[in-house]
Amino acid sequence: MLELPEAQTIARQLQETLPGRVVAHVKMNAHPHKFAFYHGDPDLYPDMLTSSPILQAEAHGGHVKLTVGPAQLVVSDGVNLRHGSRDERPPSKNQLYMEFNDGSWLTGSVQMYGFLRVTSDDLLDDPYYRTATEKPSPLTAAFDAAYFESLLREIKPSLSAKAFLATEQRIPGLGNGVLQDVLFRSGIHPRTPVRQLGASRLDNLYASVKETLRLMTDQGGRDTEKDLFGSQGGYMTLLSSKTYKDPCPECGGTIRKEAYLGGSVYSCVSCQALEPVGSTL
Ligand SMILES: [Zn+2]
Repeated sequence: MLELPEAQTIARQLQETLPGRVVAHVKMNAHPHKFAFYHGDPDLYPDMLTSSPILQAEAHGGHVKLTVGPAQLVVSDGVNLRHGSRDERPPSKNQLYMEFNDGSWLTGSVQMYGFLRVTSDDLLDDPYYRTATEKPSPLTAAFDAAYFESLLREIKPSLSAKAFLATEQRIPGLGNGVLQDVLFRSGIHPRTPVRQLGASRLDNLYASVKETLRLMTDQGGRDTEKDLFGSQGGYMTLLSSKTYKDPCPECGGTIRKEAYLGGSVYSCVSCQALEPVGSTL
């Protein structure tokens, strides 16, 4: 799933690789997927993209945007983007295949669900994408302690830490995947109501949002995800589907797995103890 560190990594790799190449050929939907979503009619995409040069790649939250001549391709959620040379075989189960003038290619393959959208304008009718382009990224200086406090002021204090961080596009690109280590590194259980967190724990949470996302991005995304060339990300997840059966990396204790707010959450029984309701630490 594309979250902030992966979108950043893939956009950087696209930017280092593709500009200057010209789109020679596009095929959409070679392997139809029930949960592949498009903007308008994907049968029109080949005409919108073919013969245009790749100009620029950038990331906004969990979205990757590729500017192709006058058009743009925006890829979101569970889409794996892959690039290879003319000698490499592209993944056959793809919903987007774009071949360049040098024979190299870019594919997009939807996993659970994902969006592959080509437009000739700025996709401003999509509130999720627009929000991601407008809100400050945790990787930038604009996302500072004062901004984090302003986000806290806007919510009901009964909201849980997970709901605060990873819902309502409050912090675009911070999804259920990166959430696990953000909370583990601040010692907070995903269900803890924000009102139970005192000033110093909220400071820890803010620091963890900034530092964890920076680390994941600088290391090329999480090890549960693949980059543009099919390599696993360099950030070793502390808590994820890969590690939750192992002992806690801090205390050696048990990691528990629970379903909570549309996704599995992992937490250490002792490092992220859930305080009894009513306690105000
Ligand atoms: Zn622990």
